[in-house]
Amino acid sequence: TEAATTAHALPVDAPEVAPERDLMSKFDALIAEREALIASGVRNPFAIVMDEVKGPTQAVIRGKDTILLGTYNYMGMTFDPDVIQAGKDALDAFGSGTNGSRMLNGTFHDHIDVEQALREFYDMTGAIVFSTGYMANLGIISTLAGKGEYVILDADSHASIYDGCKQGNAEIVRFRHNDVTDLDKRLGRLPKEAGKLVVLEGVYSMLGDIAPLKEMVAVAKKHGCMVLVDEAHSMGFFGPNGRGVYEEMGLTDEVDFVVGTFSKSVGTVGGFVVSNHPKFEMVRFACRSYIFTASLPPSVVATAATSIRKLMTAHDKRAQLWKNARRLHGGLKAMGFKLGTETSDSAIIAVILTDQEQAIAIWQSLLEGGLYVNMARPPATPAGTFLLRCSLCAEHTDEQITTILAMFEAAGRSVGVIG
Ligand code: PMP
Repeated sequence: TEAATTAHALPVDAPEVAPERDLMSKFDALIAEREALIASGVRNPFAIVMDEVKGPTQAVIRGKDTILLGTYNYMGMTFDPDVIQAGKDALDAFGSGTNGSRMLNGTFHDHIDVEQALREFYDMTGAIVFSTGYMANLGIISTLAGKGEYVILDADSHASIYDGCKQGNAEIVRFRHNDVTDLDKRLGRLPKEAGKLVVLEGVYSMLGDIAPLKEMVAVAKKHGCMVLVDEAHSMGFFGPNGRGVYEEMGLTDEVDFVVGTFSKSVGTVGGFVVSNHPKFEMVRFACRSYIFTASLPPSVVATAATSIRKLMTAHDKRAQLWKNARRLHGGLKAMGFKLGTETSDSAIIAVILTDQEQAIAIWQSLLEGGLYVNMARPPATPAGTFLLRCSLCAEHTDEQITTILAMFEAAGRSVGVIG
């Protein structure tokens, strides 16, 4: 073949890239850190493989039955029989993929249907689906705010929000996490006539704390800004209709754009933006992460549509999720663990540790006992903290919560984090 001929033509003893010019040298420190960690005998927290998944709260990891307490499967929709059936039907009827962009050949019946399901769920006129939530933020932020305009974001914003800022041409202004006064002060310094987008999150995923959206949105509106809220971690269980923290706080008429994902409560993959803005549809013609990528497979959007419609009436699941969150938060707090929030504010409960070795020791002891939680470390976490992040599922049983609490108590005591 031509490739083989070309390969033969290359000098056999081509000089190696000089170390100072080897683009991979920048990873040397990370390689050394990882090697030291693995040499210390601990399991690599970032190399977990689910060999078998038995349901939303249970998997087999290295041959061990393990309770899952570190997924974003808040509403436990991944094994819902109707959701699975919808995916199978779409796979049979439409095949495995779309082979193209939404703009060209990649819009199938179920892409239109899932956008309709989102309009119903949010009671909004506009819905645009992206291939992931990451791409929704990347695209919408860079498309909405252009040259000479401003994006104002919380310092603890998700990476996809930061990357949306980088992708665009707007000026970027950060304010201190959840600090209404700082937001007000910074907005006050910006030119009055310039277009401004304030980007907030309903629930911040590292600590599980919620934004004081009422005050934040009031300040944003006072300064003439438009507001976008990322409700990735609240869909399905905040607000009377499960629309998010913004709905719970009575802000349905104040928020201009809501970003969400299918990868958490909806139980599949995908991202979206919804809005009542009359010109919202135009985003499809300008948004690079919408146009220059393949659309989601029909089976994925069909499962999402079914899941979203079921979430509209999933009142029992919501109640169980909140009950689980309150019980785990109360139990861990009573044992003396330092947590990300004083009260049980969301379905994420972060156990805060300042010592990496202690964090890894507890994490590993939990895993060996059959409990998986997320381990988060800098730079993803606030100021030098190591977090054991627990995220609850509506399908966790009372018995599982009892087991989880007992395991945390034993691990925390053996490592000396609690007395
Ligand atoms: N926004 C927030 C706040 C998130 O936490 C995440 C994912 N963790 C995303 C957006 C991206 O969602 P997706 O997984 O669909 O890319």
